[in-house]
Amino acid sequence: MSEIRTTCAYCGVGCGIRAEVTGPRMVTIRGDAAHPANFGRLCSKGTHLGETVGLEGRLLHPMIGEKRADWGSALDLVAERMRATIERHGPDSVAFYVSGQLLTEDYYAANKLLKGFVGTANIDTNSRLCMASAVAAHNRSFGEDLVPCSYTDLEEADLVLLVGSNTAWCHPVIWQRIEAAREARGTRIVVIDPRRTETAEQADLHIAIAPDGDTALFNALLHALAERGLAQVEAWDGLACDPGIPAAHFAALVDLVAASPRMVTLFSMGANQSTGGTDKGNAIINLHLATGRIGQPGAGPFSMTGQPNAMGGREVGGLANTLACHLGFSQDEREDVAAFWKTNRLCTAPGLKAVDLFRAIDAGKVRFLWVMATNPAVSMPDAGFVRAALAKVETLIVSEVIADTDTARLAHIRLPALGWGEKDGTVTNSERRVSRQRALFAPPGEARADWAIIADVARRLGHGAAFDWNCSAEVFREYAAMTALAARHGKRLDLSAHATLSDQQYDALEPFQWGSAQALPTDAKIVPVRPAQARFDPAFPLRLNTGRYRDQWHTMTRTGLSPRLSQHRREPLLEVHPEDATVTGLAEGALARVVTPQGSAVFRVALDPGQRRGEIFVPMHWTDAMAGEGRSNRLVAPEVDPVSGQPGFKNSAARIEPV
Ligand code: SF4
Repeated sequence: MSEIRTTCAYCGVGCGIRAEVTGPRMVTIRGDAAHPANFGRLCSKGTHLGETVGLEGRLLHPMIGEKRADWGSALDLVAERMRATIERHGPDSVAFYVSGQLLTEDYYAANKLLKGFVGTANIDTNSRLCMASAVAAHNRSFGEDLVPCSYTDLEEADLVLLVGSNTAWCHPVIWQRIEAAREARGTRIVVIDPRRTETAEQADLHIAIAPDGDTALFNALLHALAERGLAQVEAWDGLACDPGIPAAHFAALVDLVAASPRMVTLFSMGANQSTGGTDKGNAIINLHLATGRIGQPGAGPFSMTGQPNAMGGREVGGLANTLACHLGFSQDEREDVAAFWKTNRLCTAPGLKAVDLFRAIDAGKVRFLWVMATNPAVSMPDAGFVRAALAKVETLIVSEVIADTDTARLAHIRLPALGWGEKDGTVTNSERRVSRQRALFAPPGEARADWAIIADVARRLGHGAAFDWNCSAEVFREYAAMTALAARHGKRLDLSAHATLSDQQYDALEPFQWGSAQALPTDAKIVPVRPAQARFDPAFPLRLNTGRYRDQWHTMTRTGLSPRLSQHRREPLLEVHPEDATVTGLAEGALARVVTPQGSAVFRVALDPGQRRGEIFVPMHWTDAMAGEGRSNRLVAPEVDPVSGQPGFKNSAARIEPV
């Protein structure tokens, strides 16, 4: 049987895969040696994708309540409820909450329907939880959401700073590439992270900063380099601040950076998932701009995204604060978008970002919510509040692969969507590389592509002419043509050369990058940023950090199906410094309750001297159904970065108690 080239279902590395279908819902997986993201490498999650393509737990038919429905009735009802909500309460009473699991074509269709034809920008995405702060930092520095690096820069750098990234676990193929470069050219690796992670263990230098200490550290670093004559920067209040780390570590860091013009700073969730995340991104970018470590091989600030298509969603405009294709809401931009979409219903202003969206649902302002390919009842901060809000929204539509997620359980109408290995379209990885995801299997049951479901609802709402697509290639061509608008407004997102691809050419499309890393940041600017003030509440004296395990993904709806992946960590563990455990009367393996102002949950204790004193860590994956009370995101404070709206998952006030 022949191999099908596709892209991994999981993270923002976007590894190419060669998949051989060996039987009904059976596939063998190997890395694609020709794909520039991974050159044949895969991590444990990608390698075991074949164990996760069974139909166990799948949603295979439309469901209205608990009753199976035909597509016509289900979509009639979706359109009827949507129309009635708009008529009674206006366009802003309708919202979509979508996902970096959607393909770019799905994202484009959802964004076009809501912003272009319903007339509200209330479409936000779980990418808001992932890298919205990096997007905001890029916009402030570069005037556009640009990632001015490619993976090859990591291999051409003499120094790699990993900030808030457990790369060895969360982006393993990137880590493999960095390790190979270290072997080949002696690349030095510095990890800046409060935790002594598996990545930090292997670094040349681990700098265990305090939670949210990044901006102070990068400001101080920039100031120290300026004092040595190695950085061009006008001083501002807060630039010459205390780096917040031992003097010897700081001196070692300054020496390393000073000696390494080829330097990449790769930053990820530890930087982004913060109430000061945008400032952190700009502090990092500032250092690169002021020292000339950008726009040349082996140098630049590099945001690593979490999801397979976090970048594609950003590109089409699937965040509430962009309109479409990197365009905003100015009169000129709106006129161009309205003309392109041939609509007179275009929204006029940014919509609600994720945390505010669920607050608006709770307040009864948003009455119709369509959730696609994500599980906010588990993944949002203060998830208990979000679950309660979802339970009372007037109409909740869920498009899903899985029949029984925490969110799907609350839905009035469930629509079966195609999953990885069934759908067909494109994704963009963290280095702006667009790759094809291709179908390996026939659609199971009555599952359909998300873009096609959205188009059918649009037709029922009377907008059929604007959604008259027959295949994903037609959606892609329209999106690619639309990026010419971005170019017209001075943006560098431009896929218009692909707007005339034939269906066959789209089918055979090879991975390609838009933009040129070396050409990107020429008009960039330094953004003065100041360290945030730490807060302390004696009732909650610890700082709670959350994150991933190596072999699990999001809320485990896919990786939980693989027996081999589940061997790595069988339950969620509370990692706590041994001395903090002693003070609290906790021993290795004991059960402990983590309490925050948002709620509480019970975990088994794992003593870990790699935790800083006063800080604890729990993984993000488990739901109530899987682990009793072990659901971490209901503990997390719903506080957001004021610029990006991204929640801070890494630094919630907490305490621990024996159970
Ligand atoms: Fe998939 Fe990411 Fe692993 Fe690559 S690194 S195989 S994209 S999970």
